[in-house]
Amino acid sequence: MNEVAIKNMLAEILTCVLNEVRAQNGSAPVAKPENGPIPIELSARHVHLSEKDCLALFGGPLTFVRELSQPGQFLAKERVRLIGPKGVMDNVAVLGPTRSSSQVELSKTDARVLGIDAPVRQSGDVAGSPGLLLASDKGIVGIKEGAIVASRHIHMTTADAARLGLKDNDMVSVRLDSERPMIFEDVLVRVSDKFALAMHIDADEGNASGWKKGVDGVIVARGSHGH
Ligand SMILES: [Zn+2]
Repeated sequence: MNEVAIKNMLAEILTCVLNEVRAQNGSAPVAKPENGPIPIELSARHVHLSEKDCLALFGGPLTFVRELSQPGQFLAKERVRLIGPKGVMDNVAVLGPTRSSSQVELSKTDARVLGIDAPVRQSGDVAGSPGLLLASDKGIVGIKEGAIVASRHIHMTTADAARLGLKDNDMVSVRLDSERPMIFEDVLVRVSDKFALAMHIDADEGNASGWKKGVDGVIVARGSHGH
């Protein structure tokens, strides 16, 4: 290889490296302490059961498998089958502990497969949402309402909220630093010292944004969309 060829090759490599550095700087979110980073977690479809429905389905209490990121919440060994007017979903996770009423958290894609029009709601806000049949090997229960698409939100402690300059029920926009970077608007802030810092998105949001384990987010705007 002659000198000119080597020089050209080096120049080409240098350009590639510089472009990569520029691209990285351009797409990396600005993680000032008051903006993040916020760990992003994906909530796959799951069910919360009332004590009564749990008993009807499994004949006893839930079996603890492992703790989830939010203190006190756990994945149970038990699984349920969801039966909707158009489709069925097997092996759906059950999260404990039991709650005052049963709730099914789906993605919009799941809802379409099941054939129900599940609204985007915050957890617990199930009034007027569609019902479903839940089945196990031992039993079957029908819930009149409770199937929702969980609205994206961030759990944080009061210390996190103070650092991020936020309070309970605030809305923010969060940019995901992922393979397909994306800004999520209207993310509800939920503050409690029972929480651990994490933003929860559903499977559709995860797929749309190229989410994978370890991806963080950064707050890029405060207030709800258009306000
Ligand atoms: Zn959550």
